[in-house]
Amino acid sequence: MTTYRFQDSEQQVPIGKIICLARTYKEHAREMNAMVTEDPLLFLKPTSSIIFNKGMIIIPKRSQCLHHEVEMGIILGKKGKNIRVEDAMDHVLGYLVALDITARDIQSMAKKNGWPWAIAKGFDTFAPISDAVLKNKVPDPMDLDLNLKINGIVTQQANTSQMIYTVERIISFISEIMTLEPGDLILTGTPEGVGEIKEGDRLEAHLGSLCSLTVDVKRE
Ligand code: MG
Repeated sequence: MTTYRFQDSEQQVPIGKIICLARTYKEHAREMNAMVTEDPLLFLKPTSSIIFNKGMIIIPKRSQCLHHEVEMGIILGKKGKNIRVEDAMDHVLGYLVALDITARDIQSMAKKNGWPWAIAKGFDTFAPISDAVLKNKVPDPMDLDLNLKINGIVTQQANTSQMIYTVERIISFISEIMTLEPGDLILTGTPEGVGEIKEGDRLEAHLGSLCSLTVDVKRE
């Protein structure tokens, strides 16, 4: 069983389902020629795709083009169904920074054919996550700088205030569909600036000064 690594806590929280949102930042939707919808798009990643800080992203043989997407992650601490917006923050345990690694060539083919994104998003190592911070360290999750450097060069830089949906609204929306349980992880979608990663790259992601994640890339 894979558990979170907390910065300031010894608690052992198993990682539950990983619920990912898409099209939550306008400028990213634009760069993908995608429409912003009333509710965010939603898909799942398997827990087997998790790797931690100082881990290695493996480019699978089936893909010729992996993209990085830096995202804020929300860890759930309390079970809930049909959670009201005003109660949503009670369900948050903490936050982390994550990468939603995407086989863009496989995803493009899936989009064209109306197929699911499970393959494009679900390979092993496609969900690197940082150590987590407890929510009491985070005064406002909707005002955090989110950025990614590749080999020392900034490629994605945004602030969570630019998200179309609030943390409360995201939790409430997802819980209308599926029961949220302690240990579940929500990846809140990426801002603009996504691009390709190659063997030998070093990726360094930050969520404000709260947490950071460094991973390398190699071929299978
Ligand atoms: Mg994403």
